[in-house]
Amino acid sequence: MPTPPYAVVLGTAQDGGFPHVGCGCDACSRAVAEPSRARRVACLGLVTSKGAALVDAGPDLPSQWRELAGHARQAVHEPPRAILVTHLHAGHILGLPLLGREGWGGTGTPVWATEDCLAALEANEPFARLFHEGHLAARVLHLGWDTSLDDLVIQPIPVPHRAEIGDTVAYRIEGPERSILYAPDLDLLTPELLGHLKSVDLALLDGTFFRKRELRRDDANSVPHPAIADTMSAVARAGARVWFTHLNHTNPAIDPNSRERRAVEALGMRIAEDGDVIELA
Ligand SMILES: [Zn+2]
Ligand SMILES: [Zn+2]
Ligand SMILES: [Zn+2]
Repeated sequence: MPTPPYAVVLGTAQDGGFPHVGCGCDACSRAVAEPSRARRVACLGLVTSKGAALVDAGPDLPSQWRELAGHARQAVHEPPRAILVTHLHAGHILGLPLLGREGWGGTGTPVWATEDCLAALEANEPFARLFHEGHLAARVLHLGWDTSLDDLVIQPIPVPHRAEIGDTVAYRIEGPERSILYAPDLDLLTPELLGHLKSVDLALLDGTFFRKRELRRDDANSVPHPAIADTMSAVARAGARVWFTHLNHTNPAIDPNSRERRAVEALGMRIAEDGDVIELA
């Protein structure tokens, strides 16, 4: 294992998972038949000099935490140093209630998020009582400001994304030698964000869809993610190093033998895989 601090990719699927909840498409059926094709919901683990932290806590939290604690050589019952939340959509917070009385219980785990997100969590069940009962402790992050997490420096960067219940951030995570940007969910690759991509050694970027027309649903227009087919050329022109994550089950690049996967790799980019390790020291 590398020297801390480092990051571990613990999940690379869009919120609904892969196989996707309620889906019998060919890709999902194949992932049921061959579990090695399955992907856990997007999540990034951080191993610091003092323990382990999570970026987002989705429905696959139990196995993701177990794997991360193993990396950090910490007992699985010792709480995370922090849980950093990008935003309040299901795949990013559904694991939080498992830290309550009916689950892990009593950890006092710091939840780092923006003021908007924390206010929404603290005002609504089943999250509110996790804070009242001391299972979670709110820690407000200010947009664009650095906060230290052991030997890492964390900076939340605002990104455009459907804000029905709170705002959305990407995290810039800086180690002693290398830095990454974790941006699993966004509606649009803005010039500001492209600037941040160029300023880090590696960016893990929203790769929900390969093409815009992929989602054949009545509400497809209300789910505006940048398509990899469009993003990859902009990113390549900017000279940024990118791995795509948060993949929807409809994304053909999920299949390692697809021509879409080859197109991504031909530009020097990658589809992130569960278990990938990124050195920061
Ligand atoms: Zn998501
Ligand atoms: Zn499917
Ligand atoms: Zn989202």
